[in-house]
Amino acid sequence: MNSIIDFFARLFDTSNWPPRWHCGTWTDFHGWLYIVSDLMIWGAYMSIPLILIRFVAVKKGVPLLSVFYLFGAFILLCGLTHLLDAIMFWWPAYRLSALIRFLTGVVSIFTVLALIRYFNEAIGLKTSQEFSVEMSFRQQALQELTRSNEELQQFAYVASHDLQSPLNTIENYLSLLEHQHAQEITPDARQLIGVSRAAAGRMRTLINDLLEFSRVGNDTEWSQVNLNDVLAEIIDEQQAEIRQTGASVKLVPLPTLLGHPTDMKQLFQNLLSNGLKYSQTGVSPVIKIWGEDQGTKYLLAVSDNGIGIEKQHFDKIFQLFQRLHSRNQYPGTGIGLATCKKIIDLYGGEIWLDSTVGTGSTFYLTIPKQIKTVKQFVQASS
Ligand code: ADP
Repeated sequence: MNSIIDFFARLFDTSNWPPRWHCGTWTDFHGWLYIVSDLMIWGAYMSIPLILIRFVAVKKGVPLLSVFYLFGAFILLCGLTHLLDAIMFWWPAYRLSALIRFLTGVVSIFTVLALIRYFNEAIGLKTSQEFSVEMSFRQQALQELTRSNEELQQFAYVASHDLQSPLNTIENYLSLLEHQHAQEITPDARQLIGVSRAAAGRMRTLINDLLEFSRVGNDTEWSQVNLNDVLAEIIDEQQAEIRQTGASVKLVPLPTLLGHPTDMKQLFQNLLSNGLKYSQTGVSPVIKIWGEDQGTKYLLAVSDNGIGIEKQHFDKIFQLFQRLHSRNQYPGTGIGLATCKKIIDLYGGEIWLDSTVGTGSTFYLTIPKQIKTVKQFVQASS
């Protein structure tokens, strides 16, 4: 113990040894070759950690940062041992030299352990070449996906648009048949015509809903949309149904957000009309709509006191054509919530619900304040 205390007390004491020049016989060439080489190694060893520090400072988010720091310390200490080796030709600080060598040894062992520990992780890191290959592959896949999606959207639009014309013909001829041949039509035949007309009506609703669905995302010219105005318009349009059901719609002042007025209208129209439609028998619907600013996004919610939905169906109802009830119980096409999800996905938000059967449902959605669509990314990168 005493020798350790003595060691540190005389760390810079050089009196026990002669300078290295006087230790043995050196020629000038031999000594300076030693000194200059050590100084060169020290210089290089000093530069490496400085370059590493600059690299880590400039390139934010460098992985395995601790290994970088350890490696830097290891090289710095190696450099110091060489500097002391050169200085010792004049200043024989052997204690200090031993201490620095010991520290170098400890740091070297930790560096080796860190390298072994993070080896697999380092192997898994991608080189910039691998990364750019993967990026260009992903970009290509994204472009193909966007293209095929647009084709599909175009197809849905054209198909539903073109279906309207034969449907008009069917409806017109049914009317003609009913009116021009009124005398010859038996009550049974009239009933059949009525059923056919109802089916044609359902088909029209289906086509219109599909058209609305396929239109989502066609127009990405965003503007500031005042949701209070959008809701006022929807409530105005659904006044007949609101009166008929004796519903009360309660609104908490809603935000003005970046979006598309048609998207916002479709979104809240679907949620509000579902709230009115899926009400409990004998209970007047109470629908509440509110929203809150959550910093980077808005949270909006539409709640009702209707029949509710079982938890197992929470995901299913957002899929196209998925309905939980027969047409006779509640009319519908199963497209409304799929349209809501499509809009929210396009905006980079989320939509989900909370519901208890017999008590009611609350649909939540988030809309980011800054919208970055995949379509815009693909357009920018192609
Ligand atoms: P649609 O109402 O035309 O059937 P939606 O896509 O809007 O289609 O809804 C899908 C299904 O989710 C509905 O058929 C219904 O079973 C269920 N659903 C939607 N909203 C509600 C609600 N507020 N309360 C109870 N069930 C609902």
